[in-house]
Amino acid sequence: MTPDPSPQELLRKLPGVDTILQTTALEEALRRHPRRLVIESIRKVLDTKRKEILSNPQDASMVNLEPSHLIELTMDILEVMGDYTLCNVVNASGIIIHTNLGRSLLPREALERLDQICRSYNNLEYDLEKGQRGSRYVHAEAILCELTGAEAALVVNNNAGAVFLVLNTLAQAREVIVSRGQLVEIGGSFRIPDVMRASGAILREVGCTNRTHLRDYDSAINEHTALLMKAHTSNYRIIGFTSEVSLDDLIALGRDRGLNVIEDLGSGLFLDLEPFGLRGEPTVQDAIKSGVDIVTFSGDKLLGGPQAGIILGKKEFVRRCKKNPLTRALRVGKMTLSALEATLRIYRDERGAIEKIPTLRMITTSLHSLKERAEELAALLRQTDRDGQLQFIVQPSFSQVGGGSLPGQDQKSFAVAVSSDQMSCGSIERTLRHNKPPVIGRIESDRFVMDMRTLQTEDFPVIQTAFARLLAGKQGDMHL
Ligand SMILES: *Cc1c(COP(=O)(O)O)cnc(C)c1O
Repeated sequence: MTPDPSPQELLRKLPGVDTILQTTALEEALRRHPRRLVIESIRKVLDTKRKEILSNPQDASMVNLEPSHLIELTMDILEVMGDYTLCNVVNASGIIIHTNLGRSLLPREALERLDQICRSYNNLEYDLEKGQRGSRYVHAEAILCELTGAEAALVVNNNAGAVFLVLNTLAQAREVIVSRGQLVEIGGSFRIPDVMRASGAILREVGCTNRTHLRDYDSAINEHTALLMKAHTSNYRIIGFTSEVSLDDLIALGRDRGLNVIEDLGSGLFLDLEPFGLRGEPTVQDAIKSGVDIVTFSGDKLLGGPQAGIILGKKEFVRRCKKNPLTRALRVGKMTLSALEATLRIYRDERGAIEKIPTLRMITTSLHSLKERAEELAALLRQTDRDGQLQFIVQPSFSQVGGGSLPGQDQKSFAVAVSSDQMSCGSIERTLRHNKPPVIGRIESDRFVMDMRTLQTEDFPVIQTAFARLLAGKQGDMHL
C-alpha cells in the first residue's frame, strides 16, 4: 500500500489557474462571461481546496481534486457571480404594494418616458427661457399643484426623507405635538419618534394609545411648540374604544393658537377608492382642501409611481424646505423626475389612471375576473402535471393593498393552491423561490398558495415553466 500523500504534495498537485482556464470545458464559459470573472471563479475554487487540505491534514487525501470536479465548482461560482443581484420576481403573494418586492410597478408611460429622457441630454437643471442654470425642482411641481390644489410642491428621495426635511426645516430644536396612537413604526426601521429625533425636532406625545382628544393637544401647547402633526397609522388599526382628532379639528386648533399643522399621509392616494370597497384612506386632495400647511407622502405606494417623497402645501413652507441645505442631500435625479411626471400626467383622466397605473389596476380588478384567471392558471398547470403529482385547486383568498395603506382591510381575491402527497408545501415553496425568475407565494394550511391579484398575465408561462422544472426534479435555470 502506498502511503497517503502529504498535504504539501497535495497542494503541489493542485492545477494552476491557467491550466484550468485552458481546458476545453471552459471554452463555453469564456464565451458567456468576461475572462476576469472566469479567472476569479477559478481562484475561488483553488483557494477553497487549499483551505480544505490545510484545515484537516489527516484527511487531506480525501479532498476531491479531480479536474472535472474543479471545473464543475468553477461553473457553479461563475453562475452566481455572473448573475444580477437585483432581478425580477413573480409576486404571487397577493400583497400589491410589497416593499420587499419593489413596491409599485411603473406604468408603461413612465417607463417609456424614463427611457426617452435618460437616453439624451435634458433640461434637468437648465432654464430654457433664460438660458441659464435652473432648478430641478420645477419639473413635477406644476402638475402636482394642478392635480391636488396645493400652492407648492417639492419632490425628494422618499417619504422618510420628506418627513425628515419638513421637521428639520420647520421644527428644529422645537416641539412637535403628536398623538401617542400615531407614533408608528413602518417596516425597515422608519419610526416617527426616531425620525423626529434625527431631524432635531422634539417629540411631544399626547393622549393614550387608543384615545387622544383635542384638549390633549391644546394643553400640551407651550412657547416651545412649533407644529401640530398628524401621522397616518399606516400599517395598523386600533379598534374598540378609540378616538382620534380629525385633521379639520387639528387645523382649527392650530389656527386658534397660531400654530402650523403638518400631516404625514404615507401613501399618497389621489382617487377615491370607496367605489371599490376600500374605505377610510384619506386622499391628498382632501388633506390640501382642509387647509393643512404641509402634507408628505410616498411616490411608490398608492400613487403608483417611482420611489419618491412628495412634499405639498403652502408656498411659504415649501419654499423654506427648498432652501434647507439638506434638500441637496435628499435630491432626486432625472430618472425619478421623468417617471414621476409621466405617472402624474396619467391622473388627469381618472378612468385612465385606474387602467394604466398597475397598482390601481390590481386594486380594482373584479373578483369575477380574478376567479377566471385562477381557473386559467390552474388549467395550464394541470396540463404541465401530466402524471397528476400535484393538486391545483382554485380557492377564495384574501389579498392586501400593503405599503402602509388601508390597514386591516383585506380584499377578497382568488388563488391557485397547490398541494401534494409526495412533496411538502415547504419544499414546493423553496423550489419555486429558487426558480429563475423566482416565484414568491405563501404557505397557508399546508398548501402553497398563489394569489391572482398580484399576478400579471406574462407571469403565467413563467409559473408554468417553474412547475415543469419542479416536476422534473431540477431547479436549474433556463438559458433563453
Ligand atoms: C411608508 C411611510 C413612510 C415612509 O415612506 P418611504 O417612501 O418608504 O420613505 C413614512 N410615513 C408613513 C405614514 C408611511 O406610511
